[in-house]
Amino acid sequence: MGYNNIKTQMKRIFLSTTIILTLGVGRTLNAQIAKKEQFIVVLDAGHGGREPGKVAKSGLKEKDITLKIILAVGKELEKNEDIKVVYTRKTDTFVDLFVRGSIANKANADLFVSVHCNAHYSQAAGSETYVLGIHRNDTNFEVAKAENSVIFLEDNYQENYNGFDPNSPSLLLA
Ligand SMILES: [Zn+2]
Repeated sequence: MGYNNIKTQMKRIFLSTTIILTLGVGRTLNAQIAKKEQFIVVLDAGHGGREPGKVAKSGLKEKDITLKIILAVGKELEKNEDIKVVYTRKTDTFVDLFVRGSIANKANADLFVSVHCNAHYSQAAGSETYVLGIHRNDTNFEVAKAENSVIFLEDNYQENYNGFDPNSPSLLLA
C-alpha cells in the first residue's frame, strides 16, 4: 500500500457503537413487574475525563459520544415508572472501573449497560451488542480485556484491583 493510500485510510476512522449488557443474577424483568418493583438499570457511559477512549481523526472522542448516548437513553427510560435509572457518570468525569462496578452493586442493579465506541478504518456502520451473562465466551473475554485496560490510567490500580491484570485469562473467573 502506497503512502497516499495509507494517508487516506488514516483519515477514515469511524466510530461505531458497542453496547455491553451485563445481566443481574437472580432477578428477572418478569419477576420485577409482577412484584411492581422497579427494574433497576445502571447506565455506564464508557471512559470520561482524562481518559477519552478512542479518538477519531475528526477529533470526535469516544467519551463524549458514549455520554450523549447514555443521557438520551436514560431520559427515555426515566419516562417509565417501572424503571429506575442509575448513572455511573452524567458529566465529563473520570470514574474508576471499580467505582462503576460498586455503583451497580450498591444499586442492586438488574442490568448494567456500558456503552463504548469502536474506532476502525473501514466504513462499517451500525452497532454491536455483547450480553455478558453466566455463559462467557472468548469474544466476551476479548471485549472485557480491551475495555478493562483503562485501569492502567487509574492512580492506584494495583491497590484497587489487588494485582488484577486485564490481559490475563483469569478475568474469566472474576
Ligand atoms: Zn471504550
